[in-house]
Amino acid sequence: MKSKSAQLSKSIPPYSALAGWNFNTTYLSLPQDFFCLVKPTQVVAPQMVLFNEELAKTLGLNVAAFAEEDAAALFAGNLLPEGATTLAQAYAGHQFGYFTMLGDGRAILLGEQVTPENKRFDIQFKGSGQTPYSRRGDGRAALGPMLREYIISEAMAALGIPTTRSLAVVATGEAVYREKILPGAVLTRVADSHIRVGTFEFAAALAHHRGDISPLKALADYTIERHYPELLEKHDKYREFLRAVMVRQAKLIAQWMSVGFIHGVMNTDNMAISGETIDFGPCAFMDAYHPLTVFSSIDHHGRYAYGNQPSIAGWNLARFAETLLPLLAPTTAEALEMAQNEIAHFEELYEQEWLGLFRRKLGFTNEEAGDLSLVQEFLNNLEQSGGDFTNGFRALAYEAGLSDGENPIATPIGFSPSVQEFLNWKERWLARLERQPGGRRAGQELVLRTNPVIIPRNHKVEEALAAAEQGELYPLQRLLVVLRQPYLEIEENEPYRNPAPPSPIPYRTFCGT
Ligand code: AMP
Ligand code: MG
Repeated sequence: MKSKSAQLSKSIPPYSALAGWNFNTTYLSLPQDFFCLVKPTQVVAPQMVLFNEELAKTLGLNVAAFAEEDAAALFAGNLLPEGATTLAQAYAGHQFGYFTMLGDGRAILLGEQVTPENKRFDIQFKGSGQTPYSRRGDGRAALGPMLREYIISEAMAALGIPTTRSLAVVATGEAVYREKILPGAVLTRVADSHIRVGTFEFAAALAHHRGDISPLKALADYTIERHYPELLEKHDKYREFLRAVMVRQAKLIAQWMSVGFIHGVMNTDNMAISGETIDFGPCAFMDAYHPLTVFSSIDHHGRYAYGNQPSIAGWNLARFAETLLPLLAPTTAEALEMAQNEIAHFEELYEQEWLGLFRRKLGFTNEEAGDLSLVQEFLNNLEQSGGDFTNGFRALAYEAGLSDGENPIATPIGFSPSVQEFLNWKERWLARLERQPGGRRAGQELVLRTNPVIIPRNHKVEEALAAAEQGELYPLQRLLVVLRQPYLEIEENEPYRNPAPPSPIPYRTFCGT
């Protein structure tokens, strides 16, 4: 007998509105300068590699409809869902400090999906062919980097960090030509929106060129309505908008830092105004703690090293503030002063967020003046001992082990806790925990709730990708299951906790274009 879902899938094609598509693409209401209407390029032999059922459900999609063969054709762009109006977005950006005109060169927006909860999400293909913004690119994506984006974005979501999500990866059956010949793929990305600092830079360049600020104003008003509707009625809404974007970025970067995430290409076109992590290129998680850690093969000067991310975020936000100058005040001098005053707060905003998160990582349920130096000294200890960032913090649950004979919960892996400096620190830290309401026990619980057991370890990601490229999907699927519960401490997941074995060749990531 056929299962109910098989019967359902027979009756509902994945491209029909009955499959749950509910597009209402407000981006089309912006001036024509901001996008080009363009269709995905057809591919030869689409094959579904991954489909995110859980995410599909939250989008209001009828999962059974996507068991169909047509689902692969749909997520490759060969068949378009009902109601889709496909477009490529214009933007500019500072790449490694230099301004360039960009745009979706290999991405196409299908539309904005409105969920049953009335939330709005961009549904976008990545790797779906050339657009008017492709410059010399082929508009394509390779399977490995698209699976990588799927893995890391889903891991970030499970860690509670704002991020774009991944709905599907389809292999195209076509080759893409990079340094090697690689299998091609299309990723379906889901985002609050794809409006970037670079979208505002594009609008500001347009305003400058034409002497007309109306498209810039239209973009700002649109973005405020979409992402910061609480500011609509404010009399100085553009200044408030700047500040609100800064607050979200301060929170986001602090979260990255708290899990050892290194984005790798924090160009202004890769900074989303919604405050989500976007564009997973050469990103990776740090194993041994060191602020200068860089993985990206193209980041020769360490511009986007772990420890530089907060100041780069500040730099990017200054570029964002510049784009808003014509809207902030009637004269440039006034606007500049206002923007500078706002931007001057970023460091403080960020440091507050960062300290809040790292207090929790040490198990502090309240605030004391000496907390900052306890955090910094712990990090110094980790750095000097070459300790693993993730496991080092998690091991604090063990170090806080209660003296009443209870078993420690976490295993003590990651750093060498025997050096005198660490023992001195530990004494002060334990005394600090004793002084807070709930004492050590509350501290231990907080350490366990705040410090993940599992991050996407680089060697595990590579292992899963290598297998997938050979058509063996189990390691990838297993990794995704483990990453979905990053705080779960069970024996089966132990192999996912260890940093890569020492290697003479440093780990390198590539942009994945
Ligand atoms: P990214 O480094 O992914 O943030 O991309 C930077 C810019 O290069 C964006 O405008 C992309 O659309 C464009 N781009 C990246 N790869 C390709 C490609 N294969 N074909 C066309 N454009 C691309
Ligand atoms: Mg980008």
